Amino acid sequence: MNTPKKEAPLAVVTGGSRGIGRAIALALAHEGWNVCISYLSNAAAAEEVLAQIRQAGQQGLAVKADMASQDDVRQLFAQAQQTFGRIDALVNNAGVIGALRSIFDADQAHLRGVFDANVLGCFYCAGEAARLMSTQKGGHGGAIVNMSSVASRTGGMPQEAHYAASKGAVDSLTLALAKELAPHGIRVNAVRPGLIETEIHETHGGQATLAKLAPTVPMARVGQAEEVASVVSFLCGAGSSYIHGTLIDVSGGR
Ligand code: NAP
Repeated sequence: MNTPKKEAPLAVVTGGSRGIGRAIALALAHEGWNVCISYLSNAAAAEEVLAQIRQAGQQGLAVKADMASQDDVRQLFAQAQQTFGRIDALVNNAGVIGALRSIFDADQAHLRGVFDANVLGCFYCAGEAARLMSTQKGGHGGAIVNMSSVASRTGGMPQEAHYAASKGAVDSLTLALAKELAPHGIRVNAVRPGLIETEIHETHGGQATLAKLAPTVPMARVGQAEEVASVVSFLCGAGSSYIHGTLIDVSGGR
């Protein structure tokens, strides 16, 4: 194993234990970042990602933190700051689709579950990260990348209005934070994936649904998590230094 690089920048990747977040954490590690990942319940998956971060020669930290809990999010950033002494990027990736639900069956607990994880979690994390990165508060600036979805502009799949609307909120949050945080030296962008092959689709048919929908994508295939991760790591790094307040679709033309 290579010697860990203490001077490396630190990225916090929420939901970095599986799927797109896992690919982002590994892409960043391979580009020289130390990475703090958060997860909800699958500690074994988080440990596997940590091992791969270390294999890439970087330092890693995994913190169990429910994005729906502001206390958990505060703990996540406190641990990251305590361990690494700096935060240079936040990837607000964690998210859920939630059970399929027609508007005729709109239900407060169901809606709150999705919006707490997908929207309020982004607010909580952005607030903690901004406080630590702000050049006006003693930090040295940084980047925030929010994980939206093309569902924010297509309306999403049938019976997923809750999900599409939550990602619409992520788009709006991105545009608003870009204005608010520019004077603090923090760039804010969002990535909007299309159909990406991960376990998130298990709530609505999994591989069978992906296979059925693939021909409807102009590129006639679903995407891979790594194809989203490469764009996110670009948005975290110096190569995107003048990209700000932008929503980038990674969707095969969908
Ligand atoms: P995934 O494979 O289901 O992975 C979700 C990750 O988020 C896991 O690490 C999970 O932790 C974590 N997580 C879920 N709920 C959480 C919560 N309340 N608090 C903290 N962590 C939580 O999902 P994915 O497909 O990679 O999706 C990642 C992001 O991309 C989501 O925001 C999703 O909406 C967005 N997206 C995905 C697609 C797609 O086609 N896959 C398309 C557009 C947008 P555990 O491992 O502990 O469960």
